[in-house]
Amino acid sequence: MNPSNFIHPDDAAALQALKNIPIFPTVMEKLFQYGLDEIRWSENVTTNLRLSERQLPEIYKHLPPICHKLGIRIPELYLQTSPIPNAWTSGNNRVYIVVTLGLIRRFKDEELDAVLAHECGHILCQHVLYSMLADSIYNLGDFFVESIVGQIGSVAMKPLKQALVAWSRASELTADRVACLITSASTMTRVLARLEGMPKSILNDMDYEAWCAQGADYENLKNGNAWKKIIRYMANTDIDHPYGPVRAYEVNRWEGSSQCKQLKKQIKLIGSGKRCPKCGNFIDEAWGFCKNCGNKLN
Ligand SMILES: [Zn+2]
Ligand SMILES: [Zn+2]
Repeated sequence: MNPSNFIHPDDAAALQALKNIPIFPTVMEKLFQYGLDEIRWSENVTTNLRLSERQLPEIYKHLPPICHKLGIRIPELYLQTSPIPNAWTSGNNRVYIVVTLGLIRRFKDEELDAVLAHECGHILCQHVLYSMLADSIYNLGDFFVESIVGQIGSVAMKPLKQALVAWSRASELTADRVACLITSASTMTRVLARLEGMPKSILNDMDYEAWCAQGADYENLKNGNAWKKIIRYMANTDIDHPYGPVRAYEVNRWEGSSQCKQLKKQIKLIGSGKRCPKCGNFIDEAWGFCKNCGNKLN
């Protein structure tokens, strides 16, 4: 799975803008010097429950098949006892996903798959390090942020913060596409509604098409006069995820694209586990000949 085949254009543009900020490399270097990766890791391993084939295997078993389909190493998976449904990925040397008890209790199996695939999407696209930085920057009391603001100055930090917020929001759109590849846009849409805090009674009655239409209305704002003002306002607020209906609209729109259909086919082949004995590529059992090397099958 090559991220260039599915990266959301807003993500690509925002990442470029982030990389163009002059102090960005310095701040990244300081992040390592400060040991943010190790600090986050130590907080995680002493607080959360590491899942495995031995530790709550019914939850853990969701993760390995997703990683196999996406072609990534299986990250560690942790359970946090928070009742609020949420999930995130962190770690550079040891990448790990955390899911909360609130999410495990409320989300159906396929919805959990979508959440894990979304997180694996962040790993696949190498978002994790930048999102760790973004997380620290939102967290104003963080020592790391205080120390870099002390060295670099808050004025120089401002454009970096704005670019990080914009990128972080756009990166969710790419990760949602990965969730769509493993599950479906409709599952991801339901996940988004759940994450917005909708209770079960509302989820069952909600008209998801109408909800996506709200996202489309927002997209239309981009063509209007006020768009620049809206962007500036958002860049100065600490909203790290784009709004639910916008993500729902984006992921549903993408599912109809030829790009998504092609990738879904590829994932289905990988999921089947059957390989061509001659070239080693994944094959469909229905094929008479390997579409990669022409080898006669069966
Ligand atoms: Zn995410
Ligand atoms: Zn072949």
